[in-house]
Amino acid sequence: MPAADAPPTTLTPYLTQAHHHLWSLAEEFTARHVTPRVARMEAAPHRAERTLPRLMAKRGWFGVTLPTEYGGLAAGHVARTVLIHRLSLASAAAGTILQAHLIPAGALLHWGTTEQKTRWLRQVAEGVVLMTIAVTEPEAGGHIGGIETTAEPADGGWRITGEKAHIGNSHLAHLHVVVARTAPPHTRTPASQALTAFLVEADRKGVTISPPRTRLGLHGFTADPPPRLGLHGFTAGRLRLDRVHIPAANILGTIGEGMDVAQSSSILYGRPNLTAVSLGLHEALVSRTTAWLANRPRYGAHLADLPVVRDRLGTMQARLQHARVITYHAVHLLDRGLPCDSDLIAAKHTSHQLAADTARDAMELHGAHALDTHHDLPRLWRDIQHTYAPAGTGEVQRIHLAKTALNTGTVQWSARLAQTLARTRPSPDPAPA
Ligand SMILES: Cc1cc2nc3c(=O)[nH]c(=O)nc-3n(C[C@H](O)[C@H](O)[C@H](O)COP(=O)(O)OP(=O)(O)OC[C@H]3O[C@@H](n4cnc5c(N)ncnc54)[C@H](O)[C@@H]3O)c2cc1C
Repeated sequence: MPAADAPPTTLTPYLTQAHHHLWSLAEEFTARHVTPRVARMEAAPHRAERTLPRLMAKRGWFGVTLPTEYGGLAAGHVARTVLIHRLSLASAAAGTILQAHLIPAGALLHWGTTEQKTRWLRQVAEGVVLMTIAVTEPEAGGHIGGIETTAEPADGGWRITGEKAHIGNSHLAHLHVVVARTAPPHTRTPASQALTAFLVEADRKGVTISPPRTRLGLHGFTADPPPRLGLHGFTAGRLRLDRVHIPAANILGTIGEGMDVAQSSSILYGRPNLTAVSLGLHEALVSRTTAWLANRPRYGAHLADLPVVRDRLGTMQARLQHARVITYHAVHLLDRGLPCDSDLIAAKHTSHQLAADTARDAMELHGAHALDTHHDLPRLWRDIQHTYAPAGTGEVQRIHLAKTALNTGTVQWSARLAQTLARTRPSPDPAPA
């Protein structure tokens, strides 16, 4: 039997010695820094957690997938999953802070020019410059082609106007990847060529985050973001762009490639990241419920001794073991440079679904105690609601997966970007016996 905080043997085929080491570092970090902060983060749901990202930055984790030439750890995609998974076991908000930065960092790596990478990527890897990816809009959620934020040519560059919603790390970030419409609607340019991605510095004139950043202002009240249902400590606010002037040098990719930038980042980074958050929450749900059932007295024994309850716990454990395999298998394929878009998509879809089913069982098996807000369980239940929408809702994943089934899929981003993904691959070493 592995030690309680060691990787389960299910994961042995996917983990190198370097991954085992990172796993231990993540355990040590969460025990020392994350777990003690959870109650405080829950008690102040409107606050952006700032200390944890600073501490993660010191360990180089914001550059986990970035090449060493830019100051990254070049540890690969299984490694980033280890970090997000283990952080999320203690606090899904902490795991989400890390994952939200890794999506645009990947976009900059794959789509940035040498000049852009030289200018920003080292600071991005060090966590000195935190990033967001700003695609979603109030009226255009999963429908990227419906983006209304516009970028018009102006003064040798571009002028961007619009509003983005639910932007992860909005209150921490220094650099935003903003996807905007560059082809006017009347030109009838297909959506796949009508959008462009821009690197927008947070301190540019005309950029505001809403609700405003924390400021103990007049009348003593704070203007923090309003609390979300869960993920307390993680912020996902609105980004407003009011005629923001952007130099041509800040275009990420080429004009018309915005949808490719958004979709490749979502498939290669967003989906596996959210899969890992779901897995961390799933493990926490099973372990809390197991402890509860093993200790709750009933008929001279415990709830866990009742066959009906055992059957339910067995189902939860089966889901968890399934979720572990699909989560790590998909990023293992990515690290090996194999085409695996469909595996990344299916893993995100199913990992959330399995964890959400387990969350419902966990709540019911705790009876009325599940409803006490001081209990950990409502936090886990609330947090798992947050892994459904980002990086593609269930419906969006199933649309992609049906294309796989019908063999009508188009791009394989994992294959198309294999060369730059390969630079972030860890050197293989044998897994310990
Ligand atoms: C925790 C969190 C972090 C996030 N971080 C970011 C971020 O960093 N950057 C960013 O840009 N966005 C971010 N988002 C937003 C996220 O990407 C969107 O929520 C997602 O794209 C869905 O958009 P929507 O919520 O507006 O729902 P909608 O797209 O309006 O969908 C509503 C419902 O309709 C269904 N639906 C929509 N279209 C179809 C269709 N064609 N066929 C069938 N059903 C359909 C959906 O599946 C869903 O059930 C984040 C969201 C969350 C919860």
